[in-house]
Amino acid sequence: MFETSDGKIRMKEDCIFCKIADKEADATVVYEDPHTLAFLDIHPLNPGHTLVIPKKHYVNMLEMPSEEAGRVFASVSKVMKGVQKASGADGISVGQSNGRAASQEVFHMHVHIIPRFNHEMMSGFPNRKKTHREELDEIGKKIRTAIDTSKHI
Ligand SMILES: [Zn+2]
Repeated sequence: MFETSDGKIRMKEDCIFCKIADKEADATVVYEDPHTLAFLDIHPLNPGHTLVIPKKHYVNMLEMPSEEAGRVFASVSKVMKGVQKASGADGISVGQSNGRAASQEVFHMHVHIIPRFNHEMMSGFPNRKKTHREELDEIGKKIRTAIDTSKHI
């Protein structure tokens, strides 16, 4: 069970990220291994904004064994290089929030990989943008290719 942003306790079956991990919900997946999954945020701060999750449901990192958190961050390390290449970003922010007070919105542990650009530095954190499936699939394909070609890193 986990708490949603409206304070209701819900079962894991209602968890959108579990559904994505189980392939019951659609997402543009850019990376997958036995323990983790990376897919594009549908409300990206910038094109290529990616989320990395453990396949197993944990509300957040506070309740995860360190080993499991380590697996997620090993994937973050791989995926962020692909995101950087594919998006041409000048920098990458990696963000992870635990609990409503920390602005966690989906209560299945996840790590944000956010492409950042020099021209946005003055205006602070970018706003979420509307996007289309085609745009997500296009940048997703580029990220998958970039991850594949940098496997030796
Ligand atoms: Zn879940």
